[in-house]
Amino acid sequence: MSVLIITEQSDKKIKKQSLESISYGVAVSKLLNVDAIAIVLGPSDDVLSSLGEYGVKKVIHQQTIGSIFSDSRSASILLNSICDQEKAQMIIFSNSLFGKSVAPRLSVKLKAGLVTGAVKLPEISNGFSVRRSVFSGKAFADVKITTPTKIITLNANAFEINKTRGNAEVIESNIEITPSNITVIETKKNEGNISLADADKVISGGRGLKGPENWGMIEELAKLLGAATACSRPVADSNWRPHHEHVGQTGVAISPNLYIAVGISGAIQHLAGVNRSKTIVVINNDPEAPFFKAADYGIVGDAFQVMPKIIEAVKNLG
Ligand SMILES: Cc1cc2nc3c(=O)[nH]c(=O)nc-3n(C[C@H](O)[C@H](O)[C@H](O)COP(=O)(O)OP(=O)(O)OC[C@H]3O[C@@H](n4cnc5c(N)ncnc54)[C@H](O)[C@@H]3O)c2cc1C
Repeated sequence: MSVLIITEQSDKKIKKQSLESISYGVAVSKLLNVDAIAIVLGPSDDVLSSLGEYGVKKVIHQQTIGSIFSDSRSASILLNSICDQEKAQMIIFSNSLFGKSVAPRLSVKLKAGLVTGAVKLPEISNGFSVRRSVFSGKAFADVKITTPTKIITLNANAFEINKTRGNAEVIESNIEITPSNITVIETKKNEGNISLADADKVISGGRGLKGPENWGMIEELAKLLGAATACSRPVADSNWRPHHEHVGQTGVAISPNLYIAVGISGAIQHLAGVNRSKTIVVINNDPEAPFFKAADYGIVGDAFQVMPKIIEAVKNLG
């Protein structure tokens, strides 16, 4: 019996969100008194034995993966084989695009109960119950899983990374990949910019910025802070910014440690995608803007006066 943690990589390095999932999976394995095993998919530049520092005893490294990151069917077939081989009792994914698309398929194959978007460790004193975020982060639901095999997808930023000391045994796996029905014609990467989904800090602009020509200050602050840039939906709809920057109910849902919203009203559909951010800073010239109700820090003022001052202050920090 074991807890399997499915990790993901970016540029052949384990993603931060996967390190959170590993720490969570290790904590779950301690609750269940079983071993935690990390699954690494595809070639990696990381020293995989060092994942032992996060508490896993074993790493299974499947080098050959075909196009599983574009094809959830072949991904679930591969992971089903690994789960059978390791007699997995519990499988942890990140609540990422990959986790969201593969975990439901795997749950059908394994006849496993699935909880998506978990935000806390399971409660095992009375059955097995997992707290998940619902209604776009407005409420929580405690969901019981009653099947012997269980799957959880963990929300980003919901669990601290725990690093100590340790070394994991690395096992190379050579499971044959099921030929895919999907042909990947082209992969376009958003070069140079920090990916919104992985960003620790996000600077976002709304219609209050009046036009695309005024985005220089958003980009400058983002560069100084090492942040990703985002926008409200009307901004993307007006082609002021690319659609992949649109956050909210119908855009990307994010949960960075810092979200700075500039000239955004804070409509409920916008908040649905950003209200899981740890700290929200709002800059708006209307003191009645709804976003101030969701903000940790608010600046009532004209963005065109406030932003240059913030940029100057950040530059002075060194
Ligand atoms: C089904 C549906 C789904 C939707 N999904 C999304 C979604 O995913 N994401 C999303 O963002 N929206 C979404 N919307 C749209 C949403 O309802 C709002 O219309 C939108 O978020 C408003 O964008 P905004 O705040 O940039 O613009 P506005 O509402 O026009 O607000 C601009 C803000 O800027 C402030 N401002 C103006 N000038 C300045 C200045 N000089 N300095 C500082 N502040 C200034 C104003 O006070 C105002 O608060 C959706 C709507 C529907 C119906």
